[in-house]
Formats: sequence, structure tokens, C-alpha cells
Amino acid sequence: MSELTPFVSHVSCTSCRRQYPADALHTVCPDDGRPLEIVYDLPSLGEANPGRTWMRSDAPGMWRYGLLLPISPPEALPSIGWTPLESLAEDGFGGLKVFLKEEGEPQPGFGSNPTESFKDRGIGMAAAMAHFFGVSRLSIPTQGNAGDALITLGKSLGQELYVAMPESTPAPILERARRAALSDSTLELLLSPGTIREAGALLRQATADIDTFSVATFAEPGWRIEGKKTMGLEIIEQLYWELPDVIVYPTGGGTGILGIWKACQELLALGCVEGTPPRMIAVQSAGTAPLVKAIKTGAEDSVAAEAGETLATGLNVPYGIGHKRVLEILRTSGGTAVSVGEAAIREEMGRRLSLSPEGAACMAVCRGLVDQGLAEAGERAVMINTCSPAKYA
Ligand SMILES: [Zn+2]
Repeated sequence: MSELTPFVSHVSCTSCRRQYPADALHTVCPDDGRPLEIVYDLPSLGEANPGRTWMRSDAPGMWRYGLLLPISPPEALPSIGWTPLESLAEDGFGGLKVFLKEEGEPQPGFGSNPTESFKDRGIGMAAAMAHFFGVSRLSIPTQGNAGDALITLGKSLGQELYVAMPESTPAPILERARRAALSDSTLELLLSPGTIREAGALLRQATADIDTFSVATFAEPGWRIEGKKTMGLEIIEQLYWELPDVIVYPTGGGTGILGIWKACQELLALGCVEGTPPRMIAVQSAGTAPLVKAIKTGAEDSVAAEAGETLATGLNVPYGIGHKRVLEILRTSGGTAVSVGEAAIREEMGRRLSLSPEGAACMAVCRGLVDQGLAEAGERAVMINTCSPAKYA
């Protein structure tokens, strides 16, 4: 059996910071039910691998970050990540320099995400970690894209899957999942009313007597954070190892906020970048905005909201066990959470046809950052285009 990379130190609770051994299989923190994350011994890693010699630039896609990831990739897993960071030349940002991380449609000369979504990073890492720990039966409730990613990437590793998604999941994703389930007796597809919350309840009911391992957002021990971390590492590498001033991130559960923040912190600790970590700005849909509400009221955690209606289905997440940590990061970084209405999302999708609804929400936020005093002209902001809009057509 392969081993964890040599500088993985332990697993830590993102809330109470209690530590657990990294070579055992965990779910959430048994003390408080909060998400766990993987911690590296960065001083030793840096000492043994000066400069950026911890990288493995010849590894496929996101695995180029070598010793800053918990394992080496399983051979059967398709390449994920190493997507382009595009500098947007257009005006309309009040002098802000905006960069777009393109996680959707493949671009010539770069790597790509197999299901044309940023979810491939976290889910790919989770499938690989499950494979590493010898776990072969996985379950996930999803708003769509994470389930799509697990069906492709989990299946590449021969995993048995239980995937639950809302009946209202965009048709291209739903149809692909249906077709996959029809031809594969080890893929169980469950359809629920409502949102990911109802999908989760249905999944718990359906798998009550079955031994499955949940790779739902933050239910697994920091695997998806490590996958999403590669997005932050790529952004910084593509900015020639400089930190951006602002990250504008579409936030449902918030794995990406934790992941990108972790990338910044680890590179700072290794001395591979200098300066101040970016202000993290979480973008939500006006219909479902628990983080925006928590920021406004000064609350330490979000309160489960009622799910609204939005084109940006990936943002229709009424609550998350990671929201407490997300809020801590938003505040520590000097960032905030903002919501975007449907009209603005539609307008941005019409302006730039490669945008997903969640990407369009980020673009709308970028246009207002300088006006709202959340950024200054000349600063650098990075926004995420989460996936190909064809997945919503
Ligand atoms: Zn804890």
C-alpha cells in the first residue's frame, strides 16, 4: 500500500483544533461535529525541500503540488485542474484588475476538469483518499456538479456510489447521472424534492442499513478542502507567486473558501510568497444568503435559511457545518459576504457566454467592488468561473 506524503502531520478540527492521527479514517470532529482539515509539518517540509522543490511539476494537473498534498494520485484517476487564469482586459471594474479562474470549458494549452466543473478537484481528491484508505462505497448528496464529479471520478477508481440530488437539478447533469445509473448496477441515483438538504435526508434514509462513507461537504476529513486548495495554489502560481488582493468566491458550503485560504497560509508559512493574504469575499444568491445574514448580524455561525429560487443552483445551500469557519476566515481576512440577484446573474451570463450562473454572480460582484469600497483601483481580484454553462442549459 502506498503511504501518505511524508510531511502530513495530523488532522485537526477547524473549530476546536483538537488533533487526530492522519493515518486513521475520520469523518467530522467527534467533539463538536465541525469539519476536520489535514495539517502538514510545514517547517520540516520547507527545510527538507527548499524553494519550491516540494512541487512535482511533471505530475498531472493539480497533483503538481506534490508534497503539499496528502497522497500521490492513483493511476486510474483522470487528470484534474491546471486550468487557466485569464486577465480580463475589459473595463467596468472601476480600475480593479480582475482575473478569471476558468474551471469550466477546457482551454488549449492547459489542463482541464473532467466534468468541466471545479467540483472535480475536491471530489477527485476525496475519491483518491477513499481509495487510499480502502473505502470502496461512497455516498454524496449534491446540488448537481459534485455528484456529476463523483460519478465520473469515483467510477474511474471502481467505487460503488450512492448519489442523491434534487429533482430540479439542471437537465444536462440529471440526464447524465440517469444514463450512468441505468447502465451501472453499482451506481444508485436518488432524486429528492427541494435542495441538497432534502437530498441529504433522503440519502441518510436510503443508506441507513448500508455501510457507506459520506463524501458530502465537510463530512469527510478535509479531503475536499485539499482538492479545492489546489485552485488557490494554481492562482498564486499563475500570478507568478504573488498573492492577489481579493478573492471573489461563490459560496455554498464553503469548501473552496477554506481551501484557498489554506493555500495562502501554507505558502506564506513556507516562505514561497510574501505579504498579506487576500480579502476573501463570499458570493451568495440573494435567494439563499445565510452567510450574508451572519455577517450583517455579527453572528459566529450561520442560521439555516429557507432555500430560495436561483439560477445559481450551486449557491442554493441553506446551511453548512463549515460556515462557522468560513465566517471566521471572511472576517480575519478583512473580507465579507455579498449577495447577488437573479437579474444581475442573467445580465452577466448574457455578456460573457462562458460563465456559469455562479461565475456570473462573481462577475457581478467584481463590477461593484471599488464602488462599494471593498477594493481599490489598481488592486488585483481573482474570481472563479465554477463550471461550463452547458451543464445548466
Ligand atoms: Zn472540534
